[in-house]
Amino acid sequence: MEWCVSMPKIELHAHLNGSIRDSTLLELAKELGEKGTIVFSEVEHVLSKNDRSLVEVFKLFDLIHNVTTDHKTVTRITKEVIEDFAADNVVYLELRTTPKRNDSKGMSKRSYLEAVLEGIKSVDSVEVDFSHNTNVDASSHSHAVDNICNGYERKKIYVRLLLSIDRRVTAEAAMETVELALEMRDFGVVGIDLSGNPVIGQWLTYLPALEYAKNQGLPVTLHCGEVPNPDEIHAMLDFLPMRIGHACCFEEEEWKFLKQLKIPVEICLTSNIRTETITSLDVHHFADLYKSNHPLVLCTDDAGVFSTSLSAEYALASSAFGLGKREMFELAQKAIEIIFACDRVKRELKEMFAKAASDLD
Ligand code: 5GP
Repeated sequence: MEWCVSMPKIELHAHLNGSIRDSTLLELAKELGEKGTIVFSEVEHVLSKNDRSLVEVFKLFDLIHNVTTDHKTVTRITKEVIEDFAADNVVYLELRTTPKRNDSKGMSKRSYLEAVLEGIKSVDSVEVDFSHNTNVDASSHSHAVDNICNGYERKKIYVRLLLSIDRRVTAEAAMETVELALEMRDFGVVGIDLSGNPVIGQWLTYLPALEYAKNQGLPVTLHCGEVPNPDEIHAMLDFLPMRIGHACCFEEEEWKFLKQLKIPVEICLTSNIRTETITSLDVHHFADLYKSNHPLVLCTDDAGVFSTSLSAEYALASSAFGLGKREMFELAQKAIEIIFACDRVKRELKEMFAKAASDLD
Protein backbone atom coordinates (compact mmCIF):
# COMPACT_ATOMS: atom_id res chain seq x y z
CA MET A 1 0.00 0.00 0.00
CA GLU A 2 2.84 2.38 0.84
CA TRP A 3 4.10 2.56 -2.73
CA CYS A 4 0.53 3.11 -3.95
CA VAL A 5 0.44 6.21 -1.75
CA SER A 6 3.88 7.46 -2.73
CA MET A 7 3.50 7.18 -6.51
CA PRO A 8 1.95 10.08 -8.47
CA LYS A 9 -1.63 9.45 -9.51
CA ILE A 10 -4.31 10.94 -11.75
CA GLU A 11 -7.93 11.14 -10.60
CA LEU A 12 -10.51 11.65 -13.34
CA HIS A 13 -13.77 10.52 -11.72
CA ALA A 14 -14.43 12.18 -8.37
CA HIS A 15 -17.72 13.82 -7.37
CA LEU A 16 -17.22 16.79 -5.05
CA ASN A 17 -20.12 16.08 -2.69
CA GLY A 18 -19.32 12.36 -2.67
CA SER A 19 -15.72 13.07 -1.66
CA ILE A 20 -16.60 15.09 1.45
CA ARG A 21 -14.70 14.05 4.59
CA ASP A 22 -16.67 11.85 7.03
CA SER A 23 -15.73 14.13 9.93
CA THR A 24 -16.94 17.23 8.06
CA LEU A 25 -20.19 15.57 7.04
CA LEU A 26 -20.89 14.55 10.62
CA GLU A 27 -20.01 18.02 11.92
CA LEU A 28 -22.27 19.76 9.39
CA ALA A 29 -25.15 17.35 10.07
CA LYS A 30 -24.80 17.94 13.84
CA GLU A 31 -24.85 21.73 13.32
CA LEU A 32 -28.05 21.47 11.27
CA GLY A 33 -29.48 19.16 13.93
CA GLU A 34 -28.79 21.79 16.61
CA LYS A 35 -30.45 24.46 14.46
CA GLY A 36 -33.48 22.18 14.08
CA THR A 37 -33.14 22.05 10.27
CA ILE A 38 -32.78 18.24 10.36
CA VAL A 39 -33.36 15.60 13.05
CA PHE A 40 -29.83 14.31 13.62
CA SER A 41 -30.89 11.02 15.23
CA GLU A 42 -32.87 10.18 12.09
CA VAL A 43 -29.89 10.62 9.77
CA GLU A 44 -27.07 9.37 11.99
CA HIS A 45 -27.46 5.73 10.89
CA VAL A 46 -27.44 6.72 7.18
CA LEU A 47 -24.20 8.60 7.73
CA SER A 48 -22.42 5.85 9.63
CA LYS A 49 -23.44 2.93 7.39
CA ASN A 50 -20.58 1.52 5.32
CA ASP A 51 -22.16 -0.87 2.82
CA ARG A 52 -24.75 0.99 0.82
CA SER A 53 -26.73 -0.20 -2.18
CA LEU A 54 -27.04 2.09 -5.22
CA VAL A 55 -30.48 3.21 -3.95
CA GLU A 56 -29.08 4.00 -0.47
CA VAL A 57 -26.16 5.88 -1.99
CA PHE A 58 -28.58 8.24 -3.73
CA LYS A 59 -30.49 8.69 -0.44
CA LEU A 60 -27.20 9.66 1.17
CA PHE A 61 -26.53 12.19 -1.62
CA ASP A 62 -29.87 13.83 -0.84
CA LEU A 63 -28.79 14.10 2.77
CA ILE A 64 -25.34 15.45 1.87
CA HIS A 65 -26.95 18.05 -0.38
CA ASN A 66 -29.08 19.17 2.60
CA VAL A 67 -25.97 19.98 4.60
CA THR A 68 -23.91 21.61 1.82
CA THR A 69 -26.36 24.31 0.78
CA ASP A 70 -24.46 27.54 1.43
CA HIS A 71 -21.48 29.11 -0.31
CA LYS A 72 -19.22 28.91 2.73
CA THR A 73 -19.73 25.17 3.09
CA VAL A 74 -19.21 24.55 -0.64
CA THR A 75 -15.92 26.46 -0.40
CA ARG A 76 -14.89 24.51 2.69
CA ILE A 77 -15.59 21.06 1.26
CA THR A 78 -13.82 21.91 -2.01
CA LYS A 79 -10.71 23.01 -0.14
CA GLU A 80 -10.71 19.87 2.03
CA VAL A 81 -11.32 17.49 -0.87
CA ILE A 82 -8.37 18.95 -2.82
CA GLU A 83 -6.15 18.77 0.26
CA ASP A 84 -7.09 15.12 0.77
CA PHE A 85 -6.35 14.17 -2.84
CA ALA A 86 -3.05 16.07 -2.74
CA ALA A 87 -2.07 14.32 0.51
CA ASP A 88 -2.67 11.02 -1.33
CA ASN A 89 -0.20 12.16 -4.03
CA VAL A 90 -2.81 12.82 -6.66
CA VAL A 91 -1.00 15.20 -9.04
CA TYR A 92 -3.89 15.87 -11.44
CA LEU A 93 -7.50 15.99 -10.30
CA GLU A 94 -10.58 16.42 -12.45
CA LEU A 95 -13.22 17.19 -9.87
CA ARG A 96 -16.81 17.03 -11.02
CA THR A 97 -19.79 18.72 -9.44
CA THR A 98 -23.40 19.60 -10.21
CA PRO A 99 -23.93 23.38 -10.07
CA LYS A 100 -26.92 23.95 -7.78
CA ARG A 101 -29.43 26.72 -7.41
CA ASN A 102 -30.78 27.46 -3.94
CA ASP A 103 -32.93 30.56 -3.79
CA SER A 104 -33.24 30.50 0.01
CA LYS A 105 -29.44 30.92 0.29
CA GLY A 106 -29.18 33.35 -2.63
CA MET A 107 -27.29 30.71 -4.57
CA SER A 108 -27.30 30.52 -8.35
CA LYS A 109 -25.52 27.87 -10.41
CA ARG A 110 -22.88 30.46 -11.15
CA SER A 111 -22.38 31.52 -7.52
CA TYR A 112 -22.20 27.82 -6.54
CA LEU A 113 -19.38 27.43 -9.03
CA GLU A 114 -17.70 30.59 -7.78
CA ALA A 115 -17.80 29.12 -4.25
CA VAL A 116 -16.06 26.01 -5.64
CA LEU A 117 -13.41 28.22 -7.28
CA GLU A 118 -12.96 30.05 -4.00
CA GLY A 119 -12.32 26.68 -2.34
CA ILE A 120 -9.68 25.83 -4.93
CA LYS A 121 -7.99 29.20 -4.42
CA SER A 122 -7.98 28.85 -0.65
CA VAL A 123 -5.92 25.64 -0.62
CA ASP A 124 -2.60 26.50 0.98
CA SER A 125 -1.10 23.13 1.93
CA VAL A 126 -0.05 22.48 -1.66
CA GLU A 127 0.61 24.47 -4.83
CA VAL A 128 -2.47 24.40 -7.05
CA ASP A 129 -2.51 24.93 -10.82
CA PHE A 130 -6.11 25.51 -11.79
CA SER A 131 -6.97 28.52 -13.82
CA HIS A 132 -6.11 28.01 -17.45
CA ASN A 133 -7.41 25.84 -20.23
CA THR A 134 -5.49 27.16 -23.18
CA ASN A 135 -2.34 25.89 -24.83
CA VAL A 136 -0.02 28.57 -23.55
CA ASP A 137 3.57 28.24 -22.57
CA ALA A 138 4.23 27.14 -19.01
CA SER A 139 6.51 30.10 -18.40
CA SER A 140 3.56 32.49 -18.67
CA HIS A 141 2.00 30.91 -15.59
CA SER A 142 3.30 32.55 -12.50
CA HIS A 143 2.23 30.69 -9.39
CA ALA A 144 1.10 32.62 -6.38
CA VAL A 145 2.83 30.24 -3.99
CA ASP A 146 6.55 29.91 -3.66
CA ASN A 147 7.65 26.47 -4.78
CA ILE A 148 10.11 26.07 -1.98
CA CYS A 149 8.87 25.86 1.58
CA ASN A 150 11.26 25.41 4.52
CA GLY A 151 13.83 24.00 2.12
CA TYR A 152 11.50 21.26 0.82
CA GLU A 153 9.90 21.29 -2.60
CA ARG A 154 6.17 21.87 -2.19
CA LYS A 155 3.79 19.38 -3.69
CA LYS A 156 1.81 20.48 -6.71
CA ILE A 157 -1.62 19.46 -7.88
CA TYR A 158 -3.37 20.41 -11.11
CA VAL A 159 -7.11 20.84 -10.52
CA ARG A 160 -9.66 21.06 -13.30
CA LEU A 161 -13.45 21.00 -13.09
CA LEU A 162 -16.17 19.08 -14.90
CA LEU A 163 -19.72 20.37 -14.55
CA SER A 164 -22.21 17.56 -14.00
CA ILE A 165 -25.69 17.38 -15.45
CA ASP A 166 -27.96 15.52 -13.03
CA ARG A 167 -30.30 13.07 -14.76
CA ARG A 168 -33.25 14.61 -12.85
CA VAL A 169 -33.07 17.90 -14.74
CA THR A 170 -34.93 19.26 -17.77
CA ALA A 171 -33.38 19.81 -21.21
CA GLU A 172 -33.30 23.57 -20.48
CA ALA A 173 -31.47 23.11 -17.18
CA ALA A 174 -28.96 20.79 -18.86
CA MET A 175 -28.33 23.46 -21.50
CA GLU A 176 -27.85 26.09 -18.77
CA THR A 177 -25.10 23.96 -17.22
CA VAL A 178 -23.32 23.64 -20.57
CA GLU A 179 -23.58 27.42 -21.11
CA LEU A 180 -22.08 27.97 -17.66
CA ALA A 181 -19.24 25.55 -18.41
CA LEU A 182 -18.47 27.42 -21.64
CA GLU A 183 -18.43 30.75 -19.79
CA MET A 184 -16.09 29.34 -17.17
CA ARG A 185 -13.58 27.68 -19.49
CA ASP A 186 -10.89 30.18 -18.56
CA PHE A 187 -11.46 29.37 -14.89
CA GLY A 188 -10.55 25.71 -14.99
CA VAL A 189 -13.73 24.11 -16.34
CA VAL A 190 -12.66 21.52 -18.90
CA GLY A 191 -15.71 19.38 -19.56
CA ILE A 192 -19.19 18.07 -18.90
CA ASP A 193 -20.33 14.95 -17.08
CA LEU A 194 -23.72 13.24 -17.12
CA SER A 195 -24.49 11.61 -13.76
CA GLY A 196 -27.21 11.14 -11.16
CA ASN A 197 -29.54 8.25 -10.42
CA PRO A 198 -29.25 5.98 -13.49
CA VAL A 199 -32.84 4.74 -13.28
CA ILE A 200 -34.19 8.27 -13.64
CA GLY A 201 -34.55 10.32 -16.83
CA GLN A 202 -34.23 9.80 -20.56
CA TRP A 203 -31.11 10.09 -22.73
CA LEU A 204 -32.97 12.24 -25.29
CA THR A 205 -33.54 14.93 -22.64
CA TYR A 206 -29.81 15.57 -22.24
CA LEU A 207 -28.75 14.94 -25.84
CA PRO A 208 -29.23 18.51 -27.20
CA ALA A 209 -27.11 19.99 -24.38
CA LEU A 210 -24.45 17.31 -24.76
CA GLU A 211 -24.35 17.78 -28.55
CA TYR A 212 -24.00 21.51 -28.01
CA ALA A 213 -21.07 20.96 -25.60
CA LYS A 214 -19.41 18.68 -28.11
CA ASN A 215 -19.91 21.13 -30.99
CA GLN A 216 -18.33 23.86 -28.89
CA GLY A 217 -15.28 21.63 -28.32
CA LEU A 218 -16.10 20.89 -24.67
CA PRO A 219 -15.25 17.25 -23.86
CA VAL A 220 -18.05 15.07 -22.45
CA THR A 221 -17.88 12.04 -20.15
CA LEU A 222 -20.97 9.95 -19.42
CA HIS A 223 -21.99 7.63 -16.60
CA CYS A 224 -22.80 4.71 -18.83
CA GLY A 225 -24.14 1.22 -18.15
CA GLU A 226 -24.53 1.40 -14.36
CA VAL A 227 -27.80 -0.47 -14.78
CA PRO A 228 -28.85 -2.80 -17.61
CA ASN A 229 -30.28 -0.50 -20.29
CA PRO A 230 -29.01 -1.65 -23.71
CA ASP A 231 -30.84 1.04 -25.71
CA GLU A 232 -29.30 3.82 -23.65
CA ILE A 233 -25.84 2.22 -23.71
CA HIS A 234 -25.98 2.00 -27.52
CA ALA A 235 -27.18 5.61 -27.83
CA MET A 236 -24.43 6.76 -25.48
CA LEU A 237 -21.70 4.95 -27.43
CA ASP A 238 -23.11 6.32 -30.72
CA PHE A 239 -22.68 9.80 -29.24
CA LEU A 240 -18.90 9.11 -29.07
CA PRO A 241 -18.14 10.61 -25.64
CA MET A 242 -14.50 11.39 -24.85
CA ARG A 243 -14.71 8.98 -21.86
CA ILE A 244 -17.30 6.94 -20.00
CA GLY A 245 -17.61 6.03 -16.33
CA HIS A 246 -18.38 2.55 -14.92
CA ALA A 247 -19.54 0.39 -17.90
CA CYS A 248 -20.76 -2.31 -15.50
CA CYS A 249 -23.77 -3.71 -17.33
CA PHE A 250 -22.37 -4.17 -20.83
CA GLU A 251 -23.14 -7.21 -22.99
CA GLU A 252 -20.88 -8.86 -25.55
CA GLU A 253 -21.92 -6.59 -28.42
CA GLU A 254 -21.42 -3.41 -26.36
CA TRP A 255 -17.91 -4.49 -25.31
CA LYS A 256 -17.07 -5.07 -28.94
CA PHE A 257 -18.35 -1.64 -29.92
CA LEU A 258 -16.57 0.09 -26.99
CA LYS A 259 -13.27 -1.58 -27.87
CA GLN A 260 -13.59 -0.69 -31.55
CA LEU A 261 -14.24 2.93 -30.65
CA LYS A 262 -11.46 2.90 -28.03
CA ILE A 263 -13.52 5.07 -25.67
CA PRO A 264 -11.56 5.30 -22.37
CA VAL A 265 -13.26 3.92 -19.26
CA GLU A 266 -13.12 5.43 -15.75
CA ILE A 267 -13.08 2.42 -13.41
CA CYS A 268 -14.29 2.74 -9.81
CA LEU A 269 -13.72 -0.66 -8.18
CA THR A 270 -14.89 -0.02 -4.61
CA SER A 271 -17.94 1.92 -5.78
CA ASN A 272 -18.96 -0.89 -8.17
CA ILE A 273 -18.65 -3.53 -5.45
CA ARG A 274 -20.33 -1.48 -2.70
CA THR A 275 -23.28 -0.55 -4.89
CA GLU A 276 -23.45 -4.16 -6.15
CA THR A 277 -23.36 -3.12 -9.80
CA ILE A 278 -20.61 -5.78 -10.04
CA THR A 279 -20.87 -8.87 -7.84
CA SER A 280 -17.16 -9.40 -7.14
CA LEU A 281 -13.74 -8.30 -8.34
CA ASP A 282 -13.20 -11.78 -9.87
CA VAL A 283 -15.72 -10.90 -12.57
CA HIS A 284 -14.88 -7.19 -12.87
CA HIS A 285 -14.33 -5.92 -16.42
CA PHE A 286 -11.07 -4.23 -15.36
CA ALA A 287 -9.20 -7.49 -16.03
CA ASP A 288 -10.44 -7.89 -19.61
CA LEU A 289 -10.02 -4.21 -20.51
CA TYR A 290 -6.52 -4.16 -19.02
CA LYS A 291 -5.52 -7.31 -20.91
CA SER A 292 -6.92 -5.84 -24.13
CA ASN A 293 -4.82 -2.71 -23.59
CA HIS A 294 -8.02 -0.66 -23.66
CA PRO A 295 -7.58 2.92 -22.34
CA LEU A 296 -8.72 3.04 -18.72
CA VAL A 297 -8.10 4.87 -15.48
CA LEU A 298 -8.64 3.88 -11.86
CA CYS A 299 -10.77 6.36 -9.90
CA THR A 300 -12.50 6.77 -6.53
CA ASP A 301 -15.98 8.00 -7.60
CA ASP A 302 -16.99 9.10 -4.08
CA ALA A 303 -14.04 8.77 -1.70
CA GLY A 304 -16.13 9.97 1.27
CA VAL A 305 -19.26 7.94 0.64
CA PHE A 306 -17.31 4.73 -0.05
CA SER A 307 -14.52 5.36 2.51
CA THR A 308 -11.78 4.96 -0.05
CA SER A 309 -8.82 6.83 -1.57
CA LEU A 310 -7.08 6.62 -4.94
CA SER A 311 -4.15 4.78 -3.32
CA ALA A 312 -6.60 2.26 -1.86
CA GLU A 313 -8.08 1.72 -5.35
CA TYR A 314 -4.57 1.08 -6.76
CA ALA A 315 -3.80 -1.30 -3.90
CA LEU A 316 -7.07 -3.13 -4.51
CA ALA A 317 -6.39 -3.48 -8.25
CA SER A 318 -2.86 -4.63 -7.55
CA SER A 319 -3.95 -7.42 -5.21
CA ALA A 320 -7.12 -8.44 -7.10
CA PHE A 321 -5.52 -8.58 -10.56
CA GLY A 322 -1.94 -9.45 -9.65
CA LEU A 323 -0.31 -6.26 -10.95
CA GLY A 324 3.10 -5.16 -9.71
CA LYS A 325 4.55 -1.79 -8.85
CA ARG A 326 5.75 -0.95 -12.37
CA GLU A 327 2.47 -2.00 -13.97
CA MET A 328 0.48 0.15 -11.56
CA PHE A 329 2.82 3.08 -12.17
CA GLU A 330 2.40 2.73 -15.93
CA LEU A 331 -1.36 2.51 -15.53
CA ALA A 332 -1.36 5.83 -13.66
CA GLN A 333 1.02 7.37 -16.20
CA LYS A 334 -1.11 6.34 -19.21
CA ALA A 335 -4.05 8.30 -17.80
CA ILE A 336 -2.22 11.49 -18.91
CA GLU A 337 -3.38 10.71 -22.46
CA ILE A 338 -7.06 10.89 -21.50
CA ILE A 339 -7.23 13.98 -19.28
CA PHE A 340 -9.33 16.89 -20.55
CA ALA A 341 -6.76 19.61 -19.77
CA CYS A 342 -4.54 21.21 -22.40
CA ASP A 343 -1.24 20.05 -23.92
CA ARG A 344 0.81 22.23 -21.58
CA VAL A 345 -0.55 20.29 -18.60
CA LYS A 346 -0.02 16.95 -20.35
CA ARG A 347 3.57 17.90 -21.08
CA GLU A 348 4.24 18.90 -17.47
CA LEU A 349 2.61 15.74 -16.13
CA LYS A 350 4.76 13.63 -18.45
CA GLU A 351 7.85 15.32 -17.04
CA MET A 352 6.61 14.75 -13.49
CA PHE A 353 6.02 11.03 -14.12
CA ALA A 354 9.34 10.64 -15.96
CA LYS A 355 11.10 12.03 -12.88
CA ALA A 356 9.13 9.72 -10.57
CA ALA A 357 9.88 6.69 -12.81
CA SER A 358 13.59 7.03 -12.14
CA ASP A 359 12.94 6.49 -8.40
CA LEU A 360 10.80 3.42 -9.00
CA ASP A 361 13.28 0.55 -8.67
P1 5GP B 1 -22.07 16.70 -6.60
O1 5GP B 1 -22.33 16.73 -8.08
O2 5GP B 1 -23.30 17.12 -5.83
O3 5GP B 1 -20.85 17.44 -6.19
O4 5GP B 1 -21.76 15.17 -6.20
C1 5GP B 1 -22.75 14.22 -5.86
C2 5GP B 1 -23.61 13.85 -7.06
O5 5GP B 1 -22.82 13.13 -8.01
C3 5GP B 1 -24.74 12.89 -6.74
O6 5GP B 1 -25.90 13.57 -6.30
C4 5GP B 1 -24.98 12.22 -8.09
O7 5GP B 1 -25.75 13.04 -8.93
C5 5GP B 1 -23.59 12.12 -8.66
N1 5GP B 1 -22.99 10.80 -8.37
C6 5GP B 1 -22.11 10.50 -7.39
N2 5GP B 1 -21.77 9.19 -7.44
C7 5GP B 1 -22.44 8.67 -8.47
C8 5GP B 1 -22.49 7.36 -9.04
O8 5GP B 1 -21.86 6.39 -8.59
N3 5GP B 1 -23.31 7.19 -10.11
C9 5GP B 1 -24.03 8.24 -10.65
N4 5GP B 1 -24.79 7.98 -11.71
N5 5GP B 1 -23.99 9.48 -10.14
C10 5GP B 1 -23.21 9.69 -9.07
